[in-house]
Amino acid sequence: MKDSVKEMLIETIMTKGTLCIPPDVRLADAVSMMRDNNCSCVVVAEADKPLGIITERDVVRIFAEQGNGNDVLSMKVSEVMASPVITVNEKDSLFEALVISKSQGIRHLPVVNAQDKLMGMVTQSDLVKVYFQVIERQREIIEKSMSERTEALKRANEELKVLSMEDPLLGIGNRRAMEVDLQHTHASAIRYKYPYSVLILDLDYFKSYNDHYGHLAGDDALKGVAGVLKANIRGADRLYRYGGEEFLVLLPQTGVDGARIASVKMIEKVREENFVHCTSPYQVITISAGVCSFSGNDGVTSWKDMVKRADVRLYKAKQGGRNRVVSED
Ligand code: GH3
Ligand code: MG
Ligand code: MG
Repeated sequence: MKDSVKEMLIETIMTKGTLCIPPDVRLADAVSMMRDNNCSCVVVAEADKPLGIITERDVVRIFAEQGNGNDVLSMKVSEVMASPVITVNEKDSLFEALVISKSQGIRHLPVVNAQDKLMGMVTQSDLVKVYFQVIERQREIIEKSMSERTEALKRANEELKVLSMEDPLLGIGNRRAMEVDLQHTHASAIRYKYPYSVLILDLDYFKSYNDHYGHLAGDDALKGVAGVLKANIRGADRLYRYGGEEFLVLLPQTGVDGARIASVKMIEKVREENFVHCTSPYQVITISAGVCSFSGNDGVTSWKDMVKRADVRLYKAKQGGRNRVVSED
């Protein structure tokens, strides 16, 4: 087994021989196949390219939504499958697949090759299992190196830190996980032609908060703000710690109007919390936001470009007096 989740490729973990059916198969036949093969999902594909997926959970949902069982069973899978299907590439790392599965709450991830052809399947539980095996192995290496050299211990410790997906102080996604999620979301947005938005949120006058109340109180304030943000984003949105006192919120399938509304809401909610900040002109902790949205024809070249543009607008929001959002140049 490889020592790092960075090195471990999905092709070494995936299950081959995934159940795969064409889109015109009836749901009844798909369900029978799942039962006969003891599989919890089936991929709907055309010329080996995944179009959608039907999982046990989808079957329950379909029955609940469609009512009458007989009619449902005679429907074609193309009418009821979850689509587009989120896939990972066989050359993606375990870490990348885990971020995608965790951030989007996906239990079954079909694996494709560079030509988009179905190669296999990984489940969230496979990924978590292997992830913990790797972490355990890493821990053994650290313990071994403790009795050897300090330099090796330092290196091994760094490796272990890199394995983490969460920021230890705030309990939200860290920057590494954020980059994987952004990269994947940007590629999906281009492929499936849907918009998405990125918000960068930054605490206002936070240096003077630390100077006045102390760093530990600053940490608590950061936790408080992270809690407010977490409570005020939708289920599909994702919150990450971008840097020191900066957050990034990723809003899939959301254009600029939705992103503006979301930013205004978060700015208001943070202010309404009334975290006292006596050295700020607002007297309470506030945040500023910069927004960038992707719609396919706005000259945005990459997810890094999105972040850069949102950052420029955040700077403008600061210049404009803080406690506000800027969503255009
Ligand atoms: P602005 O309104 O322009 O954003 O001003 P600011 O003071 O918030 O910005 P500046 O970049 O000057 O300072 C950021 C401060 O955030 C300084 C840094 O010590 C603090 N900070 C960053 N990360 C943490 C953290 O994890 N805990 C605490 N307590 N403070 C942090
Ligand atoms: Mg900052
Ligand atoms: Mg700040």
